Amino acid sequence: MPLYLVFTPIGNLEDITLRALRVLREADLIAAEDTRHTGKLLAHYDIQRPLISLHEHNEAARIPDLLARLDAGERIALVSDAGAPAISDPGYQLVRAAIEAGHQPIPIPGPSALLAALVASGLPTDRFLFLGFPPRKAKLRGDWLAELRDEPGVLIFYESPRRLPALLADVAQTLGPNRPVVVARELTKLHESFWRGRAEEAARAFAEPPKGEIVVLVGGVREQAEEQTITPEVEEALAGLLAGGMGVNQAARLLAEITGLPRRELYQRALAL
Ligand code: SAM
Repeated sequence: MPLYLVFTPIGNLEDITLRALRVLREADLIAAEDTRHTGKLLAHYDIQRPLISLHEHNEAARIPDLLARLDAGERIALVSDAGAPAISDPGYQLVRAAIEAGHQPIPIPGPSALLAALVASGLPTDRFLFLGFPPRKAKLRGDWLAELRDEPGVLIFYESPRRLPALLADVAQTLGPNRPVVVARELTKLHESFWRGRAEEAARAFAEPPKGEIVVLVGGVREQAEEQTITPEVEEALAGLLAGGMGVNQAARLLAEITGLPRRELYQRALAL
């Protein structure tokens, strides 16, 4: 029998598909990251099925028993506390083991915090890299972010509110102050919100930990030039060229070539100077 990978709500209990409810109702066993948490979801939909826990500390130990049950023809549904099983959640080891033992896992798609955040972010959706939770130690996180500097796609992170200020400060410093950043909070819940701006503004806006669950999205390297603004150094160079007698038009064109900044923006600034 197959192993069903059932996506569950990420906050709003209405976000569960009809198929997910049927699969849960028909399961011989539901393996849940936290049986109490899933118990509430099941109670809400009046589903009564046997539950066992499957979390990061017992996943490996559970596998032989679960494979034996699949061999015996039981229908097993795997769920995590929220969203997609095996995405920053337990399940990957079981999926691998099931495939190796000849049982095809069947996804029952539904809510996913990273996709919900991406589609509403306003950042390009054609190319993205999901990175889960960043390393907690500052040095490791800095090195890890540095490896992402040239990534052209949107970067998507999960982060706890407590560590958000440090992550955003590192993003501004390592990936650049002008990267577009979106902080998606409390998706599908009462206080759902999206903050949009540049990395250095994000670091300032979230200098204190906010409340709630958070997805952070950062524009890829190709977003940077479009979003760049004129730094004090560029302004100084512009003033220098004008003081040296160069025309406004020519100075703007020259600096646009050198910095990659939009010529029109430089022209306006030159006029103001
Ligand atoms: N498996 C889940 C999924 O598919 O999205 C992710 C589980 S991971 C342990 C939990 C993290 O996902 C949270 O710390 C947060 O970063 C993100 N997350 C989950 N639900 C969220 C929500 N409603 N709003 C914003 N972020 C959420």
